[in-house]
Amino acid sequence: MSKILKVKARQVFDSRGNPTVEAEVFTKNLSASAICPSGASTGTYEAFEKRDINNKRYLGKSVLSAIHLVNTKISKKLKGQSIHNQERVDALMINLDGTRQKTKLGANAILAVSMAVKKLSAKTRKIPLYKTFLIKNNYKLPYPLMNIINGGAHANNGLRIQEFMIRPDRAKSFSEAMRICFIVIKNLSKIIKSRGLSTSVGDEGGFAPMINNNNQALDLIVTAIKKSGFINGRDVSICLDVAANELYKKNKYSIHSKNYVSVNKSIVEYKKIIKKYNIKSIEDPFAENDWIAWNKLMKSIKKVQIVGDDLYVTNLERLKKGFLNISSNAILIKLNQIGTVSETLDVIKFAQIIGFRTIISHRSGDSEDTFIADLAVGTNSSQIKTGSLARSERVAKYNQLIRIEEHLGKKARMNKIH
Ligand code: PGA
Ligand code: ZN
Repeated sequence: MSKILKVKARQVFDSRGNPTVEAEVFTKNLSASAICPSGASTGTYEAFEKRDINNKRYLGKSVLSAIHLVNTKISKKLKGQSIHNQERVDALMINLDGTRQKTKLGANAILAVSMAVKKLSAKTRKIPLYKTFLIKNNYKLPYPLMNIINGGAHANNGLRIQEFMIRPDRAKSFSEAMRICFIVIKNLSKIIKSRGLSTSVGDEGGFAPMINNNNQALDLIVTAIKKSGFINGRDVSICLDVAANELYKKNKYSIHSKNYVSVNKSIVEYKKIIKKYNIKSIEDPFAENDWIAWNKLMKSIKKVQIVGDDLYVTNLERLKKGFLNISSNAILIKLNQIGTVSETLDVIKFAQIIGFRTIISHRSGDSEDTFIADLAVGTNSSQIKTGSLARSERVAKYNQLIRIEEHLGKKARMNKIH
């Protein structure tokens, strides 16, 4: 009943309109499917995303070879395996691939199958997906890190910093967290409009007004928080994803303006904006190989969440290195950076043991798949980063968390961020 009969993949499209892999896993009576997301500001050490670069019919973006591999090699290998033995299924795919970054089969092929197996296991056992991860009781809802202004590689406005986010720090429930973000976003929309700027949105649903100065974006957000009746740094905090890989050249950074300056000068500027705008969290403040810069920042600021995304790429070896180097105090978790559910859970487990906060994240190219909402609750992750209250692929994850909160009923609690 719980043995895999076959795996079938198909090419579907992501939120940017690019082809991506959907895998469907079948047992005798049931099936479940999952869609792989795709990043734009990717880290060098991420698992490999297989695309048909020479196939001009989809401008080199199709994933037909990855799909073929799922339908043939992966399907054959997994036939007869139990859907409840996630680790074995994932290990079989990892070994079948045999490369460090999953370049042979493609992490997009492997991950879609891995997630579909997890979903099918929950479906077969007739339990909600969030109950099939690490946590067995006392489930906690994550705080949303809601993206409200897009810049960097996710918009074409010239803003240096990629993501400006808000976090409703004092919300007592997930639905209350959503209400707070809703109010701030509606007010921000009015403010942007009143300045004669566009309220069109970027890849992750945040506004992408044509401004190119970080402080201008931060001023807009502070005004919106105030207009909503909240106190910045108490009720609502401003959080950033700098995605500094994109702003790095020859040991210098152009984070705070178009000019490239040293790490020390960048830190001085970070300190200024942290103080002025009460910033509580900064993701990828420096580039993925600049371990010294990360450590310098950790030593020079206190009480700010420093998050490694491209730095760690959800990879246990890199996380261990970052821990020893004192590089950050939190890690962003993206399933497709590593390529299987089991490896992702190993990284989360280790991160929590060493006292790092885990933040489950979408990708800028995402889909209607809500797997990460369940993953966040099922691993007791303190936060989730899944875009703005716009674009259905982003809102879908928030809506799933609302359902999970309702399902938990009186037992539902918010996680800790303080
Ligand atoms: P990506 O961006 O999905 O384009 O890599 C998200 C992030 O940097 O957090
Ligand atoms: Zn990031």
